[in-house]
Amino acid sequence: MVVTKIEPQVLARRKRVAAYCRVSTDKDAQLESLENQMEAFRYRLAFHRDWELVNIYTDEGITGTQVKNRTAFLRMISDCENGLIDYIITKSISRFARNTLDCINYVRHLQSIGVNVYFEKEGIDTGESASEMILTIMASFAQEESRSISENIKWGKRKRFEEGKEAKVPIYGYYHTKDEGYIVNKEEAEIVSEIFLRYAHGETRRSITDDLNARCIKPAVSDRWNHWQIDKMLKNERYIGDAVLQKSYTENHLTHKIIRNSGELPKFYVKDAHEAIINRHLFEQVQKILSMKNVKKGNISYPYGEMLRCPYCGSILVHGSLNDFTCGNMRIRNGGWGCYGKGGCRNYLVIQDYLDNAVIKAYAKEYGQKMKSVEFYWLDDSVERINAGESSVSIVWRNGEKTEEKMEFPKEKFSPVPYSRFYNFYLERVKSGDRKNKNIFLLGME
Ligand SMILES: [Zn+2]
Repeated sequence: MVVTKIEPQVLARRKRVAAYCRVSTDKDAQLESLENQMEAFRYRLAFHRDWELVNIYTDEGITGTQVKNRTAFLRMISDCENGLIDYIITKSISRFARNTLDCINYVRHLQSIGVNVYFEKEGIDTGESASEMILTIMASFAQEESRSISENIKWGKRKRFEEGKEAKVPIYGYYHTKDEGYIVNKEEAEIVSEIFLRYAHGETRRSITDDLNARCIKPAVSDRWNHWQIDKMLKNERYIGDAVLQKSYTENHLTHKIIRNSGELPKFYVKDAHEAIINRHLFEQVQKILSMKNVKKGNISYPYGEMLRCPYCGSILVHGSLNDFTCGNMRIRNGGWGCYGKGGCRNYLVIQDYLDNAVIKAYAKEYGQKMKSVEFYWLDDSVERINAGESSVSIVWRNGEKTEEKMEFPKEKFSPVPYSRFYNFYLERVKSGDRKNKNIFLLGME
């Protein structure tokens, strides 16, 4: 049996061409005005004498991502469906479509009814064989440009919803789709960066939480932030683009209970799994601060961590809150640092505020910048070690230089004392039942 292909009869007739323009009312309108777009069409039309311009369809809109602002576009599609148009010329993919899916869908639909599209900027003619692949690539870039934030949210939510089981607790700062994984949500990512920076700069979780709520910024789930959410965010490796797989697992097919994986099953750490919001350096500093402020792990050691050394024995100084103590009429707000850690000589205790002032002054001398307070993020970047002293501190900078700075005390009795003296006094106080006396001279006691 021989099969012969019958070619369709081609009728010689003029190509009916439509042009599609979209102008924005925002600032890129000035860059790519309607006139500018029209120019491209006239130029191309002039080269094809067999072309006949059917219509120019023009949409106006702020973002162009809303369907209601694309009435001319939809009318053009319907004219194509009614066989009035053979060919569409448009300025660029981003002018034509809202996102990859949108673009590919319309192009395929138009191809199926014999209409091809020419994208002037990209030089793509969907009638040419290689166009499909190029278009897929180009459209994915165009998508980023043209997708508005609000459209993004709707799209992300719909995608999550469609995927059912993928709709776990969403991660603030990202959209998650089955196809593309985690995609940065620019608006939320700014808030994520803000939270990390503020925390690294010494603000507390509670204060950040209150501020976000006061500004009516909503978290991924629920209407208000709480400091546990902030805590979880600050520890989430997703923000540096990494992923820990199998953090939790389903118990069995009967219970479907989700269980936290505490080592029953292997975990996998995937580096650079998706786009990061927070850089690794900032993230690491935040982890350090979190552990320094972790009361469960012992004393709070913020902001100096293990940088301070005892002048007598060289041990690492330990922070004490010195709660309930005042010096004369002065409250000790930030506690003190003493040599009472493991193996410490117990001969040194200095009030943090005086130490802070000296360190800030030394930093200003070394780097020409007066910091408001001592925070771990800049200590960590610039300081190698701090040797405490009787009346001064000696700072060894990471750049190898050294600065000696005098500490200023309001009165002689505020200068460093042996920790043991403070401790013995404390013990006596406890024994006498005088726990709550807030006006005891802590320093310079005999
Ligand atoms: Zn010591």
